[in-house]
Amino acid sequence: MGGSNKKPQYVFAFGARTEGDAGMRDVLGGKGANLAEMARIGLPVPPGFTLSTAVCAHYQDGGGTNGGSRPAGLEDAVREQLRALETQRDQRFGDAERPLLLSVRSGARDSMPGMMDTILNLGLNDRTVAGLARLSGDARFAYDCYRRFIQMYGDVVLGVTDDGEDADPFETCLATLRAEAGVRQSADLAVEHLRELVERYLALVRQRTGQPFPQQVDEQLWGAIGAVFRSWNNERAILYRQRYRISRTAGTAVTVQTMVFGNRGADSATGVAFTRDPATGEKTLYGEYLLNAQGEDVVAGARTPNPIAQMATALPSAYGELQALRERLEQHFGDMQDIEFTVENGKLYLLQTRNGKRTGLAAVRIAVDMHREGLLTREAALTKIPAESIGALLAPTFDRAALATAVAMGRGLPAGPGAASGRIVFTSEAADAQSKRGHDVILCRTETSPDDLRGMLAARGILTTRGGVSSHAALVARQLGKVCVCGASDVVVDTAAGTLRAGGRILREGDPISLDGFTGAIYAGALALTPSQVRQVLDGRAAAADSPWHDLFETVMAWADDIRRIAVRANVDAPDAARDALALGAEGIGLCRTEHMFFEENRIDTMRRMILAADEAERRAALAQLLPFQRDDFQRLFEVMDDRPVTIRLLDPPLHEFLPTEAAGRQALATRLGIPQRRVAERIESLAEMNPMLGCRGCRLGILYPEITEMQSQAIFQAAVAAMRSGVRVRLEIMVPLVGFVEELADQAAVVRRIAAEVMSEHDIELDYQLGTMIEVPRAALTADEIADVAEFFSFGTNDLTQMTLGLSRDDMSAFFDRYLHKEIFAANPFSSIDEGGVGTLIVEAVRRGRSTREGLKVGICGEHGGDPASIAFCAATGFDYVSCSPLRVPVARLAAAQAALTGSKLE
Ligand code: PEP
Ligand code: MG
Repeated sequence: MGGSNKKPQYVFAFGARTEGDAGMRDVLGGKGANLAEMARIGLPVPPGFTLSTAVCAHYQDGGGTNGGSRPAGLEDAVREQLRALETQRDQRFGDAERPLLLSVRSGARDSMPGMMDTILNLGLNDRTVAGLARLSGDARFAYDCYRRFIQMYGDVVLGVTDDGEDADPFETCLATLRAEAGVRQSADLAVEHLRELVERYLALVRQRTGQPFPQQVDEQLWGAIGAVFRSWNNERAILYRQRYRISRTAGTAVTVQTMVFGNRGADSATGVAFTRDPATGEKTLYGEYLLNAQGEDVVAGARTPNPIAQMATALPSAYGELQALRERLEQHFGDMQDIEFTVENGKLYLLQTRNGKRTGLAAVRIAVDMHREGLLTREAALTKIPAESIGALLAPTFDRAALATAVAMGRGLPAGPGAASGRIVFTSEAADAQSKRGHDVILCRTETSPDDLRGMLAARGILTTRGGVSSHAALVARQLGKVCVCGASDVVVDTAAGTLRAGGRILREGDPISLDGFTGAIYAGALALTPSQVRQVLDGRAAAADSPWHDLFETVMAWADDIRRIAVRANVDAPDAARDALALGAEGIGLCRTEHMFFEENRIDTMRRMILAADEAERRAALAQLLPFQRDDFQRLFEVMDDRPVTIRLLDPPLHEFLPTEAAGRQALATRLGIPQRRVAERIESLAEMNPMLGCRGCRLGILYPEITEMQSQAIFQAAVAAMRSGVRVRLEIMVPLVGFVEELADQAAVVRRIAAEVMSEHDIELDYQLGTMIEVPRAALTADEIADVAEFFSFGTNDLTQMTLGLSRDDMSAFFDRYLHKEIFAANPFSSIDEGGVGTLIVEAVRRGRSTREGLKVGICGEHGGDPASIAFCAATGFDYVSCSPLRVPVARLAAAQAALTGSKLE
């Protein structure tokens, strides 16, 4: 690009002449790139052209027509493309005799199903509709197209439907006319009804906008293009981008394509098909279609379509062709495909193909199967599984005994597998509000629309009464990994009355309900859950041979372990959790938060006695009582983790976190410990801090009270000795939290090393251990070369490091967090995914400095980010030795680490 003064190309043809291919997703968007690819390999694609994503930026700039500006030369390029299409189709855009009709659709690089806008049948007006009627010999069809066009254009471009409006005024008009005509389905409206409907729609547009519906086809086209580009910034697109971390600057492309019609009669249809089952991964053509309909009818869920298998008898030749194309598409694109098709008078056309969204279960199964079928290498198969997906194999299902006795109150289509129970909510607002209060909710709707994304994100499960397995609800639920039962036609959701009726029962908002996403069954009440098949095998409670899902899980994990280059540890502080972590594949403990050991019932008062002590002697006496508890805990941890690294962190939180906050609790404590109430009150007062996260915590505690570090070190080393004596191989790492100055670390290291030497000499045993530090304070990162003089390893505590680098409290960000996300100030929550620009820069620098002092310094991460795939990729690229995360995320981390090894590059 640089140096060339060639004009940029904004418009790319596909069809008789094709200018792009599947590799041009950045420029043409996913839809445009794949249409070009399909055209190239000779698949039946209606010809068209794509306006590149670069045009999107112009439209977002403001100014110009419709709030955006067009790059110079765009209009000429589009005109040229239109002429080419006119020649290919022997039709003319805006011609009263042989009108060319177009669809205008969005297509970002990363597909965002249903998030942006689409317009079909563009080019119709009061004159061309008559031409279409003559040309097709079917006036009913022509007016059906026109009324659809006015509705879509009115909605998307002219803003006829107000945001706050409950009912779509076009739909209200249509329903009224159906009632007047005495028909139930719009497909049963006769031509004179449709003519009347068109008149009413045109009047509605005039009334709502103060302008007649645009009759100039050029004006229609540019209006539609502008609206689709602008829909990149609508609410739901923004929310979707946040969820999937898609950059705002990527932009969408716009594809303009010649129309083919699925609403041309009984030998025409429109449908959606997946080359494999996107819910379970089974290798079967999956999807649905509607006879005599147009695209939006299927996805909108307003009519429940027919299962695709029925097409074999309804449209046998098109069905046969579809089956053959299925194989060809998978081979060509190397992934399960989601296709949109139209059958016009018996002839099949493909309107779109993309890698199909799928559930976690399906992602794993499809990847493994496609490898076994020879379609994908092991490496390629691994990159096809979103790392988070693996969690779906570990999610609980309904308890078999509970299922055996439960009676389903209704049934729908199983569209998103899994088991979910929760309170019934009928609106997205309620779903959001209730889940923020900590309740599990099931969103129950007649159907969902793209505006329900927020509610769907908040819900554990989604139930709809209309729409099929590729309705909006089903598509989005699968992608979000939510349990979904859709098209439950025997259930009546009455949002106004706040009731859900089925099987003779009435449930109300807030009542518990359960959805089985494997079978489609709906139960009143909350059914008991049981661990998944895979969990049961991992925990030794079921045989591996009985579980095909366990086979898939182990296959993927074995591939991942073979490929990844960094270790995965777990953050645990109790033996049971450690066992769990091992079952899930953890290779060590990356963080044992010792303070958690003090919270148990029989220990907390001793801890409090230590905190409330009047002097060092009293404090030492209390510590002496705590020592055996800690020693036993550590010993059991060492035993479980035999020969694997165990990183133990010294006491970290501010001491007042251990004390009761209520007056009554304080009184009771004084009585239990036999100390004057006044002293309790005084001590609590003296410990109070304005800013405890930046107060007396971390290594500052041990510096102030070395006897605490002494006791913890004694417990650790005595436990290690005891474990070694019983044959356990102890690989001990001790780390000091919240260090900012090397002097702090040196102070605490001296205590630990002195105690270690004492215990070893007392027991006459040698024990290798490492002493390291957490890097949680920006100053520690910036002076990591000095700190590495003392520290034998670094573990990045990215929770605190993020808090301190961003000056953003990890506990108090809810007030502005949503607004920040919405304004896209944060691309993602910096406490979930490493803020690479800020925190990441500090980490890179700290690793470089640390290793400049101590070659090969071991580096790990133990903040929450250690289980986040994007952060794991960052750690791998920065040369980390391990990541550590909560046990349940260990499989996710194993897979993410392998993907990082396959796709990542090492940062310099
Ligand atoms: C951290 O700060 O990242 C960390 C692991 O420590 P904690 O969350 O216990 O403060
Ligand atoms: Mg911390």
